[in-house]
Amino acid sequence: MSTPPPGTPLPPLAGGTGGPAALRPLLDTVLDALHQGALARGGPLPAGGPGPVTERLLDAVGPALPATGTGAEEALRTLVRALAEGAADPADPRCAAHLHCPPLAVATAADLAASALNPSMDSWDQGPAASALETHVARALAAEVYPREPAPDALLTTGGTEANQLALLLARERHGPVQLVCGANAHHSLHRAAWLLGLPEPVAVPAPTGVVDPAALDEALTDLHHPLLVTATAGTTDTGGIDPLPDIADLCARHHAELHIDAAYGGPLLFSDVHRARLHGLSRAHTVSLDLHKLGWQPVAAGLLAVPDATTLAPLGHQADYLNADDDTEAGLPDLLGRSLRTTRRPDVLKIAVTLRALGRRGLADLVDRTCAAAQHLADLIENTPGLELHDRPTISTVLFRPTRATDDDIATIRRTLLTEGRAVLGRARADDRLWLKATLLNPHTTPSDLEALLSLLSHLSLPEGSTHR
Ligand SMILES: *Cc1c(COP(=O)(O)O)cnc(C)c1O
Repeated sequence: MSTPPPGTPLPPLAGGTGGPAALRPLLDTVLDALHQGALARGGPLPAGGPGPVTERLLDAVGPALPATGTGAEEALRTLVRALAEGAADPADPRCAAHLHCPPLAVATAADLAASALNPSMDSWDQGPAASALETHVARALAAEVYPREPAPDALLTTGGTEANQLALLLARERHGPVQLVCGANAHHSLHRAAWLLGLPEPVAVPAPTGVVDPAALDEALTDLHHPLLVTATAGTTDTGGIDPLPDIADLCARHHAELHIDAAYGGPLLFSDVHRARLHGLSRAHTVSLDLHKLGWQPVAAGLLAVPDATTLAPLGHQADYLNADDDTEAGLPDLLGRSLRTTRRPDVLKIAVTLRALGRRGLADLVDRTCAAAQHLADLIENTPGLELHDRPTISTVLFRPTRATDDDIATIRRTLLTEGRAVLGRARADDRLWLKATLLNPHTTPSDLEALLSLLSHLSLPEGSTHR
């Protein structure tokens, strides 16, 4: 084995008492590079589309693993700048396609501390305080969902996908191979979870208006064999619609079906006095998925699966002698393995805890209210713009619209043109058998004039040559 030449400095560590001093100058470099990259981009995303964007990135980056390193400063400057220059930045009001939120600065700063300390949430001896904080915050958030239960709990997940998977897994462990019954508007991750868990093919109930039709659900539940698990959505991906939760909960009770509510998008309406009532019925679900990396302004990942009683989670219990030996558990070391299917796990709770404390319920409610108000304002603008058609008034913060004379092909082309020219990131959704442009507003800083500017991008685009008008 060859030893490095004497005097070669070892790269400093992030932790310990020396970590902050080592990090400080590197953070200056990172922050400068973020700033420079955003300036160079000058818009919501880089222009040119995948070919040129990839080419510029590879030109800037060079070989991924050079024989001799360039040093921390240079590597951070080059890569962070290149990534920022080539980013689709949800902090730009013209980046509004997906449930892709602009993270709060306070949450992002907290996430740095999580990286520096690097607790791992699979055993107490890798994160003594972090694991205590996780349970504390998870239970508090679960109590928002289940305010009348004595011992609600929640698991931290990588997002709605993992939360939905866990919900199906817990239902299967309680009842055997459950038949999933979900709306045609349900998130695709539920289908994948059913597939992954070896469950029967889900039965899809029509959602002709964008939300589940209770009469159709009643009919489906009458015909199907038990055990049944119904999933409802509070905040659909396409329109932001909220299924009629109380009606669905009543039907589940009548048909002895369990209920999972996927509130990945809409869940944080709970914080708002103005909007909480829309989630009426949420607490009647056996499990609820939430995502704070959507309407919660967290950097990815910040998902939760809430349950009304901590004992519901018992089926996830698992033993590995090196992590949770029986004698350690008996001696009082908390057993963390049953709080996830993952092993090594980031303390995503830290940024969440810091945000909850920094903003409080009122601060979070204010962000939710502003975001929903921006969507209402965008809908008003669309209704008052000749040549634009609004699909429907927004339920949360998703607004579907289209130029009146456009065909579906035009809509798809308009979206890609805006992407390629680096002007805007808008989504697309099919509703009422037509394709719509989709703005998913998640930026509480968005102003009325930002929204006007977003719409004016469309009036500057002429419809593609030869488009056949409807
Ligand atoms: C975003 C979303 C998901 C998936 O969540 P991820 O965080 O992307 O894993 C599931 N269901 C709904 C309703 C969503 O909005």
